[in-house]
Amino acid sequence: MGDLSGYKGAALRFLEKAGAAVGDVLEVRATWGTVTGTLVPRYLYGDGEHIVIKLKSGYNVGLSLGDLSGVRVVAKGDRPSFSPPQPPKPSKGLPKVLLIGTGGTIASRIDYRTGAVRPAVTSEELHAMVPELSQVARVEPEIMFDILSENITPAHWTRLARRVAKAVDEGADGVVITHGTDTLGYTAAALSFALAGVPIPVVLVGAQRSPDRPSSDAPLNLIAAVSVAGTASFSGVYVAMHQGESDDKIALHRGTRVRKNHTSRRDAFESVDVPLAAVWGRGGLEHVADGLPPRGREFKPSPRFDGAAALLKFYPSMPGGLVRAAKRAGAKVIVMEGTGLGHVSKEVAKELRLFIRSGGVACMTSQCVRGRLDLSVYDTGRDLTRMGVLPLGDMLAETALVKAMWVLGTGAKGEKARKLMAEDLAGETTTRTFPG
Ligand code: ASP
Repeated sequence: MGDLSGYKGAALRFLEKAGAAVGDVLEVRATWGTVTGTLVPRYLYGDGEHIVIKLKSGYNVGLSLGDLSGVRVVAKGDRPSFSPPQPPKPSKGLPKVLLIGTGGTIASRIDYRTGAVRPAVTSEELHAMVPELSQVARVEPEIMFDILSENITPAHWTRLARRVAKAVDEGADGVVITHGTDTLGYTAAALSFALAGVPIPVVLVGAQRSPDRPSSDAPLNLIAAVSVAGTASFSGVYVAMHQGESDDKIALHRGTRVRKNHTSRRDAFESVDVPLAAVWGRGGLEHVADGLPPRGREFKPSPRFDGAAALLKFYPSMPGGLVRAAKRAGAKVIVMEGTGLGHVSKEVAKELRLFIRSGGVACMTSQCVRGRLDLSVYDTGRDLTRMGVLPLGDMLAETALVKAMWVLGTGAKGEKARKLMAEDLAGETTTRTFPG
C-alpha cells in the first residue's frame, strides 16, 4: 500500500479502494464535474471526510467525500479543465466571520520550480484547503493585501482597522486576519489601540510553516482562529498560534503583550509577563482567562497612525548621532530600548536631553524581554528621569513604538502625547508583576 499520510476514516478507505497514494495523479468525479490533480498529504488534524489534491495550476483544493462518486489513478495527468468548486453553502445558524487575507506564509505556497516560498493563494483557496472551516462558521473571505509582513506599514494598519470597524457595522460575529508572522505582534498592537473597545473578537493568525507542508501549522491555527472569532463570549484583539510543538492546542495572546520569540518553531509566539488570554483545543475553548471584555461594548474606532516615531536599541558604544539621525528622519517620539532597568550611556542620554528640549518625546523601555523598568535605582536612571525621559513600565518596546505612532495619529503632541503614552489604554502595561 502506498503512502496515504494524514488520511484517515472514510477518506482513507476511499483512496485505498482506488489504490491511490500521495503523489499519484487522480481523476476525481464529483457531483459538480471531474477534476484531475495530484494527491497531497493531509495535515495531522485533517478529518476523515475530505481529500486534498493539487491542481496543475498549483492550487490545492479540498474535496468533500459527500460530493464524490469515484476516483481513478491516472498514469499521467493531462492539463485539468477545472473551475474550483464553490465553498459549501453557508449553513444557517453558524456565526458569520470575515476572513481578511494580508499575505505571509499562512497564505503562501511552494513554488516547485524555484523551491522558494511565495505568497500566492487567496483566502478562497485557504478555504478550499481547509474545508473544515465551513463547519465552524460562515466564512466570508476577502483579500486586502498580498504582502510579506515585513512590508506592512502604518497605512496598512489604518486600512485594516477601518475594514474591521465596517465588519462590526455589517453585523459580523468575528473577524480573522491572516498575516505574516514576522510583524504579527506589531499589527496586533496597532489594532488593539485603533479598535479599543471593539465589540467582537478580532483574531490575527499566521503560520510558521507553509500550508503545502504536512507539518504546517496553518490549518489548525486557522480553524482555531475562525472558531474563536465566531463563538467566543469575549471581545478584543488577539493572536492565535500553536501553544506547543504538538498539533493540538492553540494559544490566544493579548494583542499588546505578544512577541515572536523563535524564528521557526510552531510555538514561536509568547505572551510576555501576562497569562494567556485563552487556550483552544480540538473541541473548542478549554480555558479562558478571567476579566476578558465581553462582547458588545461601546466602540469608536480611532484608526489613524503617524509613522513619525522611532525605536532605537541601545548598545555599548552607540553613537549619540543615531538619536540626532532619528530626529532628522522626522521622529517626534523616540522609544529607546535601554539596558536592564532602563539605561543608556551618558553620550546617548545627552542627545536625548537635546531631543526633549527641542520638543520631542523620549520614552524608555527595556531590552530585557521580561520585567519592568526602574529608573530610581542607579544614577543613570535618575538622570534620565530628571531630563524628562518617560519610563514605560513593562510595556514591550515594539508595542511602545506602535502606540507612539497611534498617539501621534490622534494629533496629540507634547504633554498630551506623554500622558497618553504613560496611560494603560489597551492592556499594554500592567501594574502587577507576573509570577510565571
Ligand atoms: N516573512 C514572513 C512574513 O512575516 C514570514 C511568515 O509569514 O511567517 O510575512
